[in-house]
Amino acid sequence: ESQLNSNYSFDNFLEGESNRLARNAGMAVANKPGGTAFNPLLIYGGVGLGKTHLAHAIGVEIKDKHPEKTVLYISAEVFMQQYTDSVRKQTRNDFIYFYQLIDVLIVDDIQFLAGKSGTQDVFFHIFNYLHQNGKQVILTSDKAPVDMQDIEQRLLSRFKWGLSAEIMHPDFETRVNILKNILYRDGVEMPNDVVEYVAKNVKTNVRELEGAIISLIAQSSFNKKEVTIDLAKNVIEKFVKNVRKEISIDYIQKIVSDYFELDIDTLCSKSRKRNIVQARQLAMFFAKKYTKSSLANIGSQIGSRDHATVLHACKTVDNLLETDKEFKAHFEDINKKLSM
Ligand code: ADP
Ligand code: MG
Repeated sequence: ESQLNSNYSFDNFLEGESNRLARNAGMAVANKPGGTAFNPLLIYGGVGLGKTHLAHAIGVEIKDKHPEKTVLYISAEVFMQQYTDSVRKQTRNDFIYFYQLIDVLIVDDIQFLAGKSGTQDVFFHIFNYLHQNGKQVILTSDKAPVDMQDIEQRLLSRFKWGLSAEIMHPDFETRVNILKNILYRDGVEMPNDVVEYVAKNVKTNVRELEGAIISLIAQSSFNKKEVTIDLAKNVIEKFVKNVRKEISIDYIQKIVSDYFELDIDTLCSKSRKRNIVQARQLAMFFAKKYTKSSLANIGSQIGSRDHATVLHACKTVDNLLETDKEFKAHFEDINKKLSM
């Protein structure tokens, strides 16, 4: 069982500036698995931008062109579960042996291995074995190797052996093409200005773009409503509201204090301890970023400070993001939790 999803193909992975490098590298790998310099091929980028789709597409294409090769798609999370099961059942060697027989190994979301040293260790050995034997490894991650935290150096250096290709946010033209492709697939016609309206207003990622057009298709066919820009506006507003949870200052304080294992009273206290100060400054920064509150209001809610303190906090965070990698990693982790 390859675990590949044949709905994810190169044909329906639309090309644009944002994914061209990754897509072309994927094609090259599919033509000659293990036989290019792109080994491993690491595809990285933000959520919903097409990493999983492209990873499957490469695997599906390899199965098609090289039916004799064994291809396996697995998420890093399932890989870890299998590994810990094997340790518990004392079948660790079988686990390793199984993976050594694979010709093309695709591991999705390797950022999940962060901090899991046992799984990293076994993956390191499997990776080396496959690589030495000319087998192809394809990885995806939400970050570039340089930005990965809590992954062993020896693994990171292996990840950089081949090609790291970023998938970026699709530009307007690519978004239009993706929408048109979905309409074509579903046999639905929609006025051009509506399609362009959707492409213009849903910029976050491809998953949300798909969600928006699918609700629009549903609206028009089930409710027999004519598809106009007004309808699109309505649907997108609802859609975007559905996916965006209102973020309050309280919620930000809770997420930040949980993250640093502090209680909210400590976060808001007068403490000058470095980690507490940084946590407080992050809370202020995110409150400014995600709420419509005034600086004065943010200050008064987060430990009775004044607006100048909040402003200073925001500047400090900006500076630390430029200079302090570890801080930046914490920042991104929290940002991700807040936007979930
Ligand atoms: P990621 O793994 O990066 O979070 P996915 O691969 O799950 O993202 O993609 C999210 C959705 O967007 C999927 O339904 C996928 O088919 C679609 N998608 C992403 N990029 C493209 C593209 N270039 N062309 C067509 N569909 C795409
Ligand atoms: Mg994915």
